[in-house]
Amino acid sequence: MDRIPKIYPGGARVGKEELDAVTTVIETQRLFRYYGPQEGPSMVDAFEASAANRLGVEHVQAVSSACGGLICAFAALGIGPGDEVIVPAFTWVATASAVIGVGAVPIIAEIDESLTLDPEDVVSRITNRTKAIAIVHMRGGSARLKELLKIAKEHRIVVIEDTAQAFGGTYGGKSLGTFGDVGVFSLQFNKIITAGEGGLVVTQNRQLWERVAMVHDVVGGLRNGIPDELAIPGLNFRMGELQGAVANAQMGKLDGILTDMRLRHRMISERIAPHVEERGGHFRFQPDPEGDTGLSLTFFLPTIDEARFAVDALLAEGLPVMNLYRDKVDYHVASDWVSILAKRSWSNSGAPWSNGLPSPEYTRDDWPRTLDILWRSVHLDVSPDLTMSQVDQICEGFKKVLLSGSL
Ligand SMILES: *Cc1c(COP(=O)(O)O)cnc(C)c1O
Repeated sequence: MDRIPKIYPGGARVGKEELDAVTTVIETQRLFRYYGPQEGPSMVDAFEASAANRLGVEHVQAVSSACGGLICAFAALGIGPGDEVIVPAFTWVATASAVIGVGAVPIIAEIDESLTLDPEDVVSRITNRTKAIAIVHMRGGSARLKELLKIAKEHRIVVIEDTAQAFGGTYGGKSLGTFGDVGVFSLQFNKIITAGEGGLVVTQNRQLWERVAMVHDVVGGLRNGIPDELAIPGLNFRMGELQGAVANAQMGKLDGILTDMRLRHRMISERIAPHVEERGGHFRFQPDPEGDTGLSLTFFLPTIDEARFAVDALLAEGLPVMNLYRDKVDYHVASDWVSILAKRSWSNSGAPWSNGLPSPEYTRDDWPRTLDILWRSVHLDVSPDLTMSQVDQICEGFKKVLLSGSL
């Protein structure tokens, strides 16, 4: 049987373009974004310009990671001690850690079958301390943006779009990450395009960008022509030129990757749809199927046992599938965010949970609907590099397993 590769969409396409760009950085010895022994253009500048152009956004800031980018975004929006930020119970733990990073408290909400924030549950968790919602576009598909943006507007809270898993996805034809006050992208190795590590913060608001720039660079104000009266303390989440070189080369590959993932995603979902239905299952809810990146394909079966049995049988057929949550510890699921559930932080005082304000009690089973949805899921990674014979193999595998009487 043809072995289906593990999925690293951009990572598996690293090649000559990245090598040439990195070689230029080495040859010019310009390893630092802002200066070097020789004059020359900055790779990070070039990456920012191509990202701004491709995403259709006014202001962008390359950063060292999306986690760092989230910290810049929350800080830029003035979120800090005493504030609450709503995050989904299914996201990479970084979304919640970054909230704690600025001294605020994460309030963890249920997901629905879109695999991300359930708007009704979000509303039920809003208090007078809620300052922001972190909307996360999971596994390459968009959140319910229309409903969530409406809620944010009604309650006058700001929106951060964590687009780490959906670079290049759209909603109503517009790039994900450009709807909220600030959007954050990741270039870590598992993501759609990659520089190994790296991130990007985007906004249409010049003042917010200035604040992001200052947080991302200890002397950001000085370097970016921002007057002293506006200066806020900075940290260091800068991107280096080697990363910038790879990131810029990967930007050039984004559309090819998306085209190839979308084609394979469509072929597979069309062919397996009747079998999923026969088993009483249904696909993930897609708020905008046209804008999906094609990165992954998820359906839900009626019971947890059926979902587990199907995944075991599909794995035996050599398919790259999983249940989105099972028995293994997984930092994508709030139930496994042990340090957060225990309300531990870096502060001996117990902050941010001990600042005299009411503080949430978290327990592992606070999100029963989220867990049920994840347990009943069957999830397939869709590599842009699947050959047509591998696509056939995947479809045949699903057909065989979903039609088998023992399921
Ligand atoms: C990967 C990821 C992050 C963190 O990205 P890093 O670049 O690794 O810091 C944040 N949020 C989500 C949803 C992610 O998938």
